[in-house]
Formats: sequence, structure tokens, C-alpha cells
Amino acid sequence: MDFEWTKEECDLYDEVVAFCKESLQHDVAALDAPSEFSRDAWKQCADFGVLGWRVPTEQGGKGYSATLSALLMEAIGYGCEDNGLAFALGTQMWGVQTALLQFGSDAQVDKYLPGSIRGELIGAHAMNEESSGSDAFAIATTAVPDGDDFVISGEKTLVTFAPLADFAVVFAKTAPDAGQWGISAFLVDADTPGYKAGDADEMMGLRTVPYGRVVLHDCRVPAESLLGKPGAGASIFSFIQMWERSLVLAPHVGAMHRLLDQCLAFARERKRAGLAIGKHQAVSHRIANMKLRLETARLLLYQTARQQQEGSSDLMAPALTKIYLSESLVQSGLDAIAIHGGDGYLTAAGVERNLRDAIGATIYSGTTDVQRNIVASLLGL
Ligand SMILES: Cc1cc2nc3c(=O)[nH]c(=O)nc-3n(C[C@H](O)[C@H](O)[C@H](O)COP(=O)(O)OP(=O)(O)OC[C@H]3O[C@@H](n4cnc5c(N)ncnc54)[C@H](O)[C@@H]3O)c2cc1C
Repeated sequence: MDFEWTKEECDLYDEVVAFCKESLQHDVAALDAPSEFSRDAWKQCADFGVLGWRVPTEQGGKGYSATLSALLMEAIGYGCEDNGLAFALGTQMWGVQTALLQFGSDAQVDKYLPGSIRGELIGAHAMNEESSGSDAFAIATTAVPDGDDFVISGEKTLVTFAPLADFAVVFAKTAPDAGQWGISAFLVDADTPGYKAGDADEMMGLRTVPYGRVVLHDCRVPAESLLGKPGAGASIFSFIQMWERSLVLAPHVGAMHRLLDQCLAFARERKRAGLAIGKHQAVSHRIANMKLRLETARLLLYQTARQQQEGSSDLMAPALTKIYLSESLVQSGLDAIAIHGGDGYLTAAGVERNLRDAIGATIYSGTTDVQRNIVASLLGL
């Protein structure tokens, strides 16, 4: 497979890194400690065009391919230290915009997409529940048909952006006896009576984005709120998951690159007993492994993005990408702390934050255990 980027694509990568260095240099530690989201940084990204990258030009976006979007999200992960912001952009692009673009009616696309591209409307993807999690289709939320409406009741947990989302893609059972084929998806505005976002939940990492519950109590929505056909919820969810698993970790590749640069500089400068610590094999081998993980992660990401671009329904590559990119950043985060010694453990230095931020990816969009189940089952086990 040829991954030669064109000059234009390389120039775009450089432009994105330059944008991050110019406009996204906010004090991440100051947001991380109290767990605050920077609406200003979000708007800067939207104004730069990030939230339109994967949207076709005829719908107001840039129409970039999945591969180019992956490369540019990698650039965000490299240039911007706010891993939470990069994650949130990814969830919006792959978790929310993909759903709208693929399954939304013209009216739904017109209602939500332009605001999403401008960074003025933020969507949430509300599937997870206390009783389901990895058993995703075991949700208890119901949407009962009533005349021309549906009445939704249930509680979603751990939802990214729940406390400030303007709308949510909500999955609910419209035919509880039909198993996964009885699940439907709805676009629900956050100001609909009966829709309530819970307080923000504190996470150990990715703290610059808010998370929480979405409580739906007799929440009445018109039939036009249905996303896709009744009973298509499981297929819609699986489709979104495939995009998420393939691409939401693209910034991880950039973050691995950023950590590698940081560790290299530190290993050259830091002297102990008159010797740069990078001259110790224990340190240099850690850095060599960081480089190895970065390059293999890149290949997996680009290959999977290309497959997605070509409309592949292969489940293996997204699962492998999800496992490898998430676990690689965790390992590189650990290595970066080890290389920085006590400084690496200091909150103020910011090195430890990368590890805290990395761990979430082993859980969201399907845990790495669940991805290994997929790989094993595709291998016939
Ligand atoms: C940062 C973050 C953001 C999130 N954002 C969203 C969001 O926007 N929308 C949303 O709907 N959800 C979101 N989630 C929730 C996420 O999808 C779930 O946490 C995830 O699917 C795991 O479900 P669970 O937490 O219930 O864990 P469980 O399913 O209870 O799993 C617990 C443990 O058991 C293991 N396990 C469970 N079943 C199996 C199995 N069959 N085989 C092997 N191991 C298994 C798991 O791997 C895990 O180690 C987010 C989570 C995080 C951490």
C-alpha cells in the first residue's frame, strides 16, 4: 500500500501544526485541574475549518478524504497539547457528523450540520447505559410510539459533551422484543421537555471535555426526529463505531510524535554524572521503542483510514487500530514519565497528563478487550 503524501497534503499538515502552535496554546493544565472545556479553542478550530474537514463540499465542508482527515487530525495531536480537545473534535467528526451525513434526512442535515461545522452546535452520542456498556445493545431506554410522536425514557451514562450538548443522537428501543433489531436512533434537542443533562462527571483524564448523564423522562419527540428507519439503530451504531475505531485515535499518533520529540530533547539535555541520560541504553531503548510504536501506529491508521474511505466493511483493521493506537499511547505515556524521572510525575510539568489522557481510549468506542474479541472471532476462534 502506498502512503506517499502529496506536497499539498504535506503542506496542509504543516499548516495545521502551525495553526495549533499559534492558536491552541492555551494553558491546558489550568483547564485540566478544574475540568473545564475551552469553548474559545473549539471555536478557533471550527473557524480554521476542522469541523468541516470530512463534510462534503456541497454540504458546506472541505470534503477531505478519510485518509487526509486522519493525517490532519494527527497534526492536531502533534501541535496541540490539549488531548481532550483533540478527542472531542474526533467524537464530533466521527461520532456525530458521520451519523448525520450517512443517515440524516435533508431536513436533519440542514438543521444540525451547518451549526456543527461552525462550532456553534455541539452534538452528543448517547448509547451507553449503566446496564449495557460492552454489551451495547442491552440498553433499557425505550421510545414508545404515541400518535405521530415517540416518548423516550431512560438514562444514558458517560456521554461525552452531555452537560453542554445542544442535541444528542439517542439510541432507544422502539420494539423491546426484537433484540438489537428493535433499537432506533433519534436526534433529540437538549431543550426538549423531558431531556435533562446531568452534572458533569469527573474523569481521570481527557478532563478538558465535559462528560455526564443524559436523563430522558417522558421526552416527547416527533417522528421526524428518527435518524434512519425504525429498527436501524443497531446498524447505525455499528457503522458509527467502525468510523470511530478507525479514526478517533488519529490524534494519538500525533501525541506519540510530540512525546517522542519531547523525550528526545530531554534525553539530550538532561545530564547525570556528566553524561546525557540518552547515552544510557535504558533511556535510549525506551525512546527507540517510542519511535517504533509511532511508525507502526501510523501505518495502521493510514491503512484503516484508506479502507474506510473505500467503503470497506472489514472489522479487523478498525479493531486492530483501536487496540494498537490506544495501548501504544499508554505505553509511550509511561515511557515519557520514566524518562523524565521525578519531573515526569509532577503535575505541573504536564508529562503525566498524557498518560491519564491516553487510558480513556482503551475504554471508549469499545474496550480493547471487546476489540480483541472481534479480532479473535474474525480469526475463527
Ligand atoms: C472518556 C470516555 C468517553 C465516553 N464517551 C461516550 C459517549 O460519548 N457516548 C456513549 O454512549 N458512551 C461513552 N463512553 C462509555 C463507553 O462506551 C463505555 O464505558 C464502554 O463501552 C465500556 O462499557 P462499561 O464502562 O459499562 O464497561 P463494562 O462493559 O462493564 O466492562 C467492564 C470490564 O469488563 C470487560 N468486558 C465486558 N464485557 C466483555 C466481553 N464480552 N469480553 C471481554 N471483556 C469484557 C471490559 O473490557 C472492561 O474491562 C465513554 C467512556 C469514556 C471512558
